[in-house]
Amino acid sequence: MSHRIAVLPGDGIGREVTPEAVRVLRAVGKGSGTTFDFEEGLVGGGAIDATGAPLPPATLALCLKADAILFGAVGGPKWDDLPQEQRPERGLLGLRKQLDLYANLRPAKCFPFLVDASPLKREVVDGTDLVVIRELTGGLYYGEPRGVERAADGSARAVNTMVYSTAEIERVARVAFDVARKRRKRLASVDKANVLVVSQLWRETVTRVGKEFPDVTLEHVLVDNCAMALVQRPTHFDTLVTENTFGDILSDEAAILAGSMGMLPSASIGSLAGAGGSLAGAGGGRVGLYEPVHGTAPDIAGKGIANPIASVLSAAMLLRYSVNMSADADRIERAVERVLAAGHRTGDIARSGEKALGTRQMGDLIVREVEAQY
Ligand code: NAD
Repeated sequence: MSHRIAVLPGDGIGREVTPEAVRVLRAVGKGSGTTFDFEEGLVGGGAIDATGAPLPPATLALCLKADAILFGAVGGPKWDDLPQEQRPERGLLGLRKQLDLYANLRPAKCFPFLVDASPLKREVVDGTDLVVIRELTGGLYYGEPRGVERAADGSARAVNTMVYSTAEIERVARVAFDVARKRRKRLASVDKANVLVVSQLWRETVTRVGKEFPDVTLEHVLVDNCAMALVQRPTHFDTLVTENTFGDILSDEAAILAGSMGMLPSASIGSLAGAGGSLAGAGGGRVGLYEPVHGTAPDIAGKGIANPIASVLSAAMLLRYSVNMSADADRIERAVERVLAAGHRTGDIARSGEKALGTRQMGDLIVREVEAQY
C-alpha cells in the first residue's frame, strides 16, 4: 500500500513538531510495510516570504492530489501587521475552504499520568476520553444576512444569522456516527432545541440519520447542560457533535480537561468516502487535514523545546480517519502513553523539579516505542 501525505509544517514550532510526526509515520511505514510518500509544501508566513502568498498554488495542488495533509501551524509576530487578506492564517482558511473541510474533530483525553496537570479534580477528570465534532463551514459564522446598520443618530443594529440546511446537518451527523462507531458507540448531539428553530431541525435531522446507525446510542443534550456536564462529569461523554458556534466554545472547554496545548491533536474532514460508512478509503474520498490545536508559539519557537505530542497524535488521527490504519494509530497512541508513563516530559507538562526533554528527544522516545510494537 502506498499513501501520499502532503506535509505543511508552516511557521514557528510547526517547523519543529511536524518533522517528529513524520518520523513517527516513517516508523509505522517501516513496521507495517506501508509506503508513505511525503511531499512538503509552503504555507503561512514562510510562504508569504518566499512567494508573496500564504497559500501558493503549488501547495494547493500538492494538497489536492494527496491522501491526507499533515499541517503544523501558521503565523507569528513578523506577519502581524499585514492586512487581513494577506496574513498567514489565510493559508489555513483557504485550505479549509478549498477542501470543504466541514467536520472538525478534537479529541480530549486525560492521560493517567497527567491527571494532576488538569484544572479539574482528579476524581472528576480521571478516565476522560472524548471527542468533540464541530460543524465547521456553516451556522452563525457564515450565515446571511449579516452586517451592521449605523443610523445618523449614532445608534446601530448588528445582525448575524444562524442557518443550517438538512444536507449540511446530515453530512456532519454521518461523520459523527461513524466516529462514534469506531469508539465506544455513544453519541451526544448538542443543541438548543428548547429555544432555536435551527436546533429543532438539527435534532430532527440527527435523529433521522441515527436510524442508519442502530449500533450507536444517541442522546440529545442542551448546550447549556453540556457546558456544565463537561466539567462536572466529563467521563459521561464519548463522542459529541454540534454546530459551529457551540462547537467552537465546547471544544475549547473540553481542551482544558486534557491539561496542555502541547497534547491536543485535531482533524478536519471533508467528506465521507468509501463503502460501508467508513471515513477512510478510496472511492471519491477527499483529503483530511490533521494538525495540532496549538499555534506557532513564538515565545518558545527556535529553542527546540516544543512538545511534539499534539502533532504526533494528529498523525495517529490521520492513519485512523484518512487511510484506514486504525491498528497503527492505536500503536502510536500506545507509544505516547508508554513514554509518558515512563515519566518523560517536555517543559510544558513537566512539574517543577522534573527534567524537561527537548522536541527531538521526545520524538526519539516515541519513535522507539512505535518500533517496538512491530
Ligand atoms: P499558541 O498555541 O501558539 O501558544 C499558546 C501558549 O502555549 C504559549 O505559551 C506556547 O508556548 C504554549 N504552547 C503551544 N504549543 C505548545 C507546544 N507544542 N509545546 C509547548 N508549549 C506550547 O497560541 P498563541 O500564542 O495565541 O498564538 C501564537 C501564533 O500562532 C499567532 O500568530 C496565532 O495567530 C498563531 N496560531 C495559529 C494556529 C494555527 O495555525 N492553526 C492556531 C492558533 C494560533
